[in-house]
Order: sequence, then structure tokens, then C-alpha cells
Amino acid sequence: TTATAPADRIEESMHDDLATTLDPERAHALDRAHVFHSWSAQAALDPMVITRAEGSRVWDGQGREYLDFSSQLVFTNLGHQHPRVVAAIQEQAARLCTVAPAFANGTRSEAARLVASHTPGDLDHVFFTNGGADANEHAIRMARLHTGRHKVLSTYRSYHGGTHLAVNVTGDPRRWPSDHASAGVVHFFGPFLYRSPFHATTEAEECQRALEHLEQVVAFEGPGTIAAVVLEGIPGTAGVMVPPRDYLAGVREICDRYGIVMIADEVMSGFGRSGRWFGVDHASGGAGVVPDLLTFAKGVNSGYVPLGGVAISDAIFATFAHDRYPGGLTYSGHPLACAAAVATIRTMEDDDVVGRAAALGDDVLGPGLRALAERHPWVGEVRGTGAFWAVELVRDRATKEPLAPAGGSSPEMAAVLGGCKERGLLPFTTDHRIHVVPPLTTTPDEARAGLRILDEALTAAHAAA
Ligand code: PLP
Repeated sequence: TTATAPADRIEESMHDDLATTLDPERAHALDRAHVFHSWSAQAALDPMVITRAEGSRVWDGQGREYLDFSSQLVFTNLGHQHPRVVAAIQEQAARLCTVAPAFANGTRSEAARLVASHTPGDLDHVFFTNGGADANEHAIRMARLHTGRHKVLSTYRSYHGGTHLAVNVTGDPRRWPSDHASAGVVHFFGPFLYRSPFHATTEAEECQRALEHLEQVVAFEGPGTIAAVVLEGIPGTAGVMVPPRDYLAGVREICDRYGIVMIADEVMSGFGRSGRWFGVDHASGGAGVVPDLLTFAKGVNSGYVPLGGVAISDAIFATFAHDRYPGGLTYSGHPLACAAAVATIRTMEDDDVVGRAAALGDDVLGPGLRALAERHPWVGEVRGTGAFWAVELVRDRATKEPLAPAGGSSPEMAAVLGGCKERGLLPFTTDHRIHVVPPLTTTPDEARAGLRILDEALTAAHAAA
């Protein structure tokens, strides 16, 4: 027998490796045997096997096609398998898979430059992380070291990540089982007119009362003890609540008055999702508000390789210019993730992806969802901007009783979701909300097709209830 050349041998073993991963039944069985999933009762799970994906579509193990209105977990902003991003990762892998954070690397440097060129104001220094939670953990650590204070204020209707401090800073029910040892974390109410904690009846009133409330919380907690106010540029998983026009400028003003660091969590709302580069860019009628620290992940590289980060202002950067920053990550600024970020951000620039997201919201998703709200008695409100929408489902429009309890599920919600899936649509859901968050590259026809399915699924579930 002739000896197999090394290249052939690699080809052969790749073939063997692939054979073990391509069978969808085997994938499902091994998942059930060995994979422990996030946020789930493990035994109840029956995860769909996704075997292929392209643009706004995915295919399951039986070859059925679905429109992806979830962008998975609101991260495939450029859609699946974007050729330029795939090629950039392949090229980087072939050239240099990895280097430690202490070395400089051209791909990481360029990714940092591109991020800094789109973040507002002087947020020109970038600390890369592996995702959103660790970005928030590091932002809070920077704020504490910068101010010499320890308390952190965050909103009840928020999600900031699943790690220890990030889940404690989170306000929504995902915090409850893990809410211990969160010294110094204090929650307050952000504005949300539909379920106003302040009994306001207009956006302007909600804004003013929410700012007065924050001011009171700051006063009673002791301004000299508060390191940071953390809030999402546009709160996402808690229900896509675009803040009233002047709210973020008001928060900025309170932070400035008391020397508090303003941290905008743009993990979900950033990188074009809202139809602007960042959620904070919508503030003050589009003039924008500049936080001191801005955290990002997801859309920065469409989630093709895990990446997040903190964009840091000049003033906070100065704190660590000569004093060591006591924190770090083995994979900070990983070249494969940064290659994906460079290709993603350049594609967004070249193809006006942010403008397309804005138009998708203005021309298709907004009008379509508002029409749906008029037809369906379960729809209490639709809210959003760009490719970032939530449909609030209620049992009764007058009482606003949610169609499922906070942190729970209901047969009606399950029927709506099941109806979407049966008809070939994958939405993203939280509690009693359906989030319509497709890739920003979704075509108007695809968006209309998805809305039609949602419409039919709501009609069928309501009729069966
Ligand atoms: N912050 C916000 C606003 C998010 O939506 C998320 C995830 O959904 C996170 C932080 C956590 O990000 P990761 O899951 O990458 O840690």
C-alpha cells in the first residue's frame, strides 16, 4: 500500500469528523444525552436541530424551512452565513487563529478602530470581552475603580447577562433565583408608559416622573456611594421600550451632577438593530446622548464568533493610563472574532445596513405590526424601531393582564408560538411578548411573509382558546 500523504489524511479525518455531526437524529440524541442548555428545565427540552442557514432562513433536520424572526438570540444582524464574514473568518483562521491579548494584532486593532468610529463622542478605547455579560461586569469594575464608589443602580425592566454580577444587576425575573451577594446593587424604575409605575398618561409626564424618581433614589442611596447607573440604550428582552425623547439626556444630567458613571448597555440595541448605530443615538430627538461607558456584543460581528466589549471614554481611560487595570480575559480581542467584526462593520458601512434596518421598521414592520394590533384582541401594544419590535400580548386590553406570567408560560402563549413554528416562522419570545427581531438584511417581502404567519398564528390560537 502507498502511504497516504498528510493532506489526504487530513481530508479523510475531516470526512470522518463531519460524518459524526451531520446526522440530525444523532445530533438530537447526543444533545439530550450530554448538552446542558441555558435557562431550561433540561428534561422538558426538545430542541430543534438546525442543519443549514442562509440569510433570514434556517432549515431543520427534516429539511423544513423557517423564516428566522429571532436573529437567533437577536444577534445575527447580517443574517446567516454572510459570505464576506464567513470568508474573513476563514482567511483569518488560515493565517493566524489566535494570539494572547498582550500582543498587538492587526485584525484586533482594526476591529477596535471600527467600533470606536461608530460609538458616540469620545468612546474611543475598546476593551474586548467574550460577550455581553462580561462586558457589563468589566464596565462596572471600571466605574467602581474610576469613582472609588461601590453602588450600582440599574432598572427593574432590564437584562444585563447571566454571570454573577450581571445577573444581579439584571432587573427582570431571571435575577430572582440568583439574587444573593449583590452588595451595592440597587434597582429603580425606568420609563414604560404602557405599564407606567408613575401613573403617567403621556410620554412627557412618564419621562419627567421617571427622572424625578431616579433623582430620589440617588438622593436616598447617597450620591457619594454610587459608582454607576447602568441602563440599556433601548431595553430589549424586557420588552423593547424605546425611552421617551428626553429621558437619557435627563439621566446623563443626573450622572454629571453627582459624578456618577453612566453605562449604556447596547449589547442588544447596538450595531444597527434599532435603525441607528446605537440605541443612545435616538435620544433627544436624534441628537443622541454620550454615556461614559458603552457595552456591546451580539451585532458587533453578528455573533459568528463570540465577541463583546466596553467602549471607554477618554476620562475613564485616563484612570487606567498609569494605574494598572486589574482585570482581563484570556481571549480578549480574539483574532477570529475580530476578523468577523471587521467584515461585519465594513459590510454594514458599505451596504447601508443601518439605513435598511430603519426603512424595514418604518415601511414594513411598524405599519404591519400596528395593523396586526388593530385586528387582534390579545395585542395590547406593539413597540419598537428599526428591526427591533415587541408585541405585548394580554388577556384583556382594559386590565392589561399579561397572556403569561412574568418568568413563566401559558397554554395560550404556547399555542401562538407553536402556530408560528408550524407555519415556518421562528420568533423570539419573553414571558408574554413576541419579539419581532429579524436580521437587518431581511427583505421587505420576507418581513411581510413573516408578519402574515404571525397574523395567522394569532388568529388560530385565539380561536382555539
Ligand atoms: N445585555 C443585554 C442588553 C442583553 O440583551 C444580553 C443578552 O441578551 C446581555 C447583556 C448578555 O449578553 P451575553 O449573553 O453575550 O453574555
